[in-house]
Amino acid sequence: MRPSLRLGNVAGIPVGIHWSTLLVVALIMAVLGTAVLPVGGPGVSRGLYWAVAAITATAFVASLLAHELAHALVARRRGVRVRSITLWVLGGVTELDDEAGTPRAEAEISVAGPLVSLALAAVAYLALLVFHGPPLILSAVTWFAFVNAVLGVFNLLPGAPLDGGRVLHAFLWWRYHDRFRADRTAARAGQTLGMVLVAAGILQTVMWSPVGGLWTVLIGWFMAGAARSEAFGHAARDGLAGLRVRDVMTPDPDLAPAWLTVEDFVSSVALGSRQLVFPVVDFSGAPTGSVSLETVLGLPPERRAAVHVAEVARRLPPDHVLTPEEPAERILRQSAAPVVLVTENGRVTGMITSADLTRVLLQAALRGRSRDGTP
Ligand SMILES: [Zn+2]
Repeated sequence: MRPSLRLGNVAGIPVGIHWSTLLVVALIMAVLGTAVLPVGGPGVSRGLYWAVAAITATAFVASLLAHELAHALVARRRGVRVRSITLWVLGGVTELDDEAGTPRAEAEISVAGPLVSLALAAVAYLALLVFHGPPLILSAVTWFAFVNAVLGVFNLLPGAPLDGGRVLHAFLWWRYHDRFRADRTAARAGQTLGMVLVAAGILQTVMWSPVGGLWTVLIGWFMAGAARSEAFGHAARDGLAGLRVRDVMTPDPDLAPAWLTVEDFVSSVALGSRQLVFPVVDFSGAPTGSVSLETVLGLPPERRAAVHVAEVARRLPPDHVLTPEEPAERILRQSAAPVVLVTENGRVTGMITSADLTRVLLQAALRGRSRDGTP
């Protein structure tokens, strides 16, 4: 999640806001200003409804931030570095530099956020019992207490990537002493929960609340997707565990010399090769990028004789060059890359494409299955 606007640092943690948060604020203001507040405190001017709605919506965003800060501060206390907090349309994201080191730390970090939401709800509810203000203010505070209670309870649902899913993960990890097994179960729970929410949202849309129902469908859909990609990330990490870059790479790939014309490259290299992608190298043999058959095909045939490989090559970010002895897990950090090059003494000795990665992960899955005999 890339923030659109940096709000500054809170307790030394960079806090940003994604533009989609404004959608939430607008939606909340509309619901409060046109429905909740006029019903709760009738007979006041429209301007006052909107003013109170704006303050309440802002207070809600601040309570989201408090929830995320709770995660962040506990994480920091448990020795996990916090990169940033970003608020967006479905709440907040606290990015940690690493995963919690122990089940207990993971549970504490995860539960801190929902506890703060529930505490804010409780404080608002107590305030309602103690103070007696104008009905307009009371209905705004009631709404604030209600949404924070919902936020706290919803986030405790036991499926990744919700906080409750992390608590479940911590519990399973502690119970089985097997982080990988806990990863799989928590992700599966998240996918199931996401689909249940989608179904509930559809029912809600049909039965009584089209807008609220669509919102539930959206959240459920997002959750199922996030759980799926987490499951993939974990499976990939498990599959590559213990392997080196050397074990994954295609050794000695055919190369695309940067100085050749595309025409020469096609006739002398591409047509005789079994590769879809080629490392581009300069005179010294050092890698400068990659070029795919698709890219070459995108160039009009009559221009092939005039254009050089260097001009159609895709530039290679420095972190996409690895050495054979590095842990294979490094490949996963370059998720955006179609290709990773492997070099020894500055020369290309291997290449890793998504096909290599898929093969290794499937092999790992096959190996795992034959080892413990479970599907
Ligand atoms: Zn949370």
